[in-house]
Formats: sequence, C-alpha cells, structure tokens
Amino acid sequence: MKERGGPVYFFGAEASSVSGTLPGRSIALFLDFDGTLVPIQKDPGRCALSGETKSQLQSLAGSDRHFVAVLSGRALSDIKSRIGIQNICYGGNHGLVISGKGMRFVHQEASRAMRAIDRAAQKLNKEITGFPGAWVEQKKYSVSLHYRLADKKAIPELKKIFHEVSAGFLRSKVLAVMKGKKVLELMPASWDKGLAVLWILNRLEGGYLPMFIGDDVTDEAAFRELKKRGITIRVGKSKSTLANFYLKDRQEVYRLLESIRVQPNSLKKE
Ligand SMILES: [Mg+2]
Repeated sequence: MKERGGPVYFFGAEASSVSGTLPGRSIALFLDFDGTLVPIQKDPGRCALSGETKSQLQSLAGSDRHFVAVLSGRALSDIKSRIGIQNICYGGNHGLVISGKGMRFVHQEASRAMRAIDRAAQKLNKEITGFPGAWVEQKKYSVSLHYRLADKKAIPELKKIFHEVSAGFLRSKVLAVMKGKKVLELMPASWDKGLAVLWILNRLEGGYLPMFIGDDVTDEAAFRELKKRGITIRVGKSKSTLANFYLKDRQEVYRLLESIRVQPNSLKKE
C-alpha cells in the first residue's frame, strides 16, 4: 500500500483502491486525541471536543458495524472526561490502561512503575522551578515534561534536565523515554500504542478492518503494528512516518470519519 518516499494522500486517486473499498466494511477505528480529534492547544487543559465531532463519534460508536477506541497519552480519567461518550473504548497513558466496551486492562509494569514515576515527577518538578512555562504532568502511570509554553532559549536546558533525571530510571530499565510534540515523557518500558492496539484487536470478534489515525511520533508504534493488516493514517504530512496514508489536517479527519459514518447500515460485517 505504501509508496516509496512517504505516505499516500488518502483522498487522492492513488488511494482509491483502498479508500473505495471502505463502504461495506466494519471498521475498528483507533483514534488519537490531541492534534487528531481536537486542535493542539498551548495549554492542553483547554482542549475540548467540538459538539460536531462528539456527535460524529457517538453515531459511529452507536452503529453495530463499527468499533471505536480513542488512544491518548493523557491519563485515562482525563481522556474519558474530555470525550464523554459511553460506548467506546479508551486507552490512557498511550494504552497502558484500557477501559470500555467490556475491556479492562492495566499493564502490570505500569502498576510496578508507579513509585518510580512518582520519584521522577518529584525530581523534575524540583529541577524545573525557574523555567517559566515548563510544567510537569503526573499522570499516575507516566510523567510528562511539557515545554510548549517555555522560552525557546530554555528548551535545550529543559531537555538536558529531563534526560539527566531520566538516566537512572533508564539504566534500571524500569522506564523508557517517549517523545511527543513539545513534550518528553517517562513511562514504563516495553509498551506503546501499537501493542495496546494489538491487545484490543485480539479481543474483538468479527471481521473488523483496523484503521488508526494519529498525528504524532507516539502514533508511529501503532502504524508499525498495523502497517500490513490495516489502514494507517498520519495527520499532517511527514516523510518519515510508517503510515500508509496521510490526511492534510483535522478537517480531513472529520471528512473521513463522516464518510465511514454515512455508509449504509444494511451492509454487514464480512
Ligand atoms: Mg496527537
């Protein structure tokens, strides 16, 4: 499906052999949140799902043809409250915790790593006082250093602090570093969104076609796992992505979800 030189534009003619086969398929939709369903905000606390997107997700989740999961780097309680829909599956902390649609999972290393996460958060908090705009988000099973609002000149120093604090945890292989857009994160090693997607897919019955849509480097793990068995879509053009396809922006994510939503309901799973 993928061409050399980067992903194929999903709404372009080159993708029609794949996009044209979607009507009639039951799709297991895996969606990232920030930058995919909502615009990225300087303050992530301000990201809210639009009424339009919420109804669209509700409608997709309410159809008996499709399965919907939202996988985010946010804490589970955070992503759940921002989406606020009952009938979907949620993955928090990049899928370290999964809940919804009869599924319940907490990665065993996540529980074990909680104390290390706590210590790392305390150290980071102490080290970054004096850097306005930088802040530490303790998310129970992972911890993030956000620097989107920090002075540009301070960013190399903030990264250095992060890596110094991380070093001890990396040596003992308890935690690993995850990079995102203007954020560095420490989380239990050996888990990512790709493995979380496989965990969910293994529990789904029926002929679902998996589709993953995401905009960030943390979504690449899911593109890696689904590359040969599903449709992988990066939001925003990126040459280095493992995704088969790309969409130009979030508006096109809405357009794609809408095209899946309005397919005739009479068509059954394969
Ligand atoms: Mg994102």
